[in-house]
Amino acid sequence: MENCIFCKIVDGKIPAAKVYEDEKVISFLDIMPANKGHCLIVPKKHSETLAEISDEDLAAIIKAAKKVAKALSLSLGAAFNIVMNNGKEAGQVVNHSHIHVIPRFHKDRLRIKWSHLKYENDELKEYADKIRKFI
Ligand code: AMP
Ligand code: ZN
Repeated sequence: MENCIFCKIVDGKIPAAKVYEDEKVISFLDIMPANKGHCLIVPKKHSETLAEISDEDLAAIIKAAKKVAKALSLSLGAAFNIVMNNGKEAGQVVNHSHIHVIPRFHKDRLRIKWSHLKYENDELKEYADKIRKFI
């Protein structure tokens, strides 16, 4: 993918602060971190979202996320959030699938929480039925 910033990092055309690499995956620091130490886990093969990534690459990135999360925990004493934005409305800016591993600290002021809605009447069942048809 010619204009993909993460493909350029994979190809070594632009620099990144790498923390992990294997045959299928690269992980490096996010340059605009939610907290210092925030890492991105990126499949070397371009895919846009979780819906398109191959099962092999998905397995590789989630395993790498676990390694990096454990390293953040040991090196920074951090808890962590795993976040994956899929699609523009979900906040995805770089259209090369990636997992965020965000270190969390006591009173760090970062909020990855949402307010809760309620289902009315039969809506709960209706949503489950609707979704189940496509699985
Ligand atoms: P997302 O909103 O899930 O698409 O996140 C994309 C992330 O990539 C953002 O948090 C950016 O700060 C990060 N990012 C963009 N360009 C670079 C780069 N050259 N090196 C490291 N991180 C980057
Ligand atoms: Zn790409």
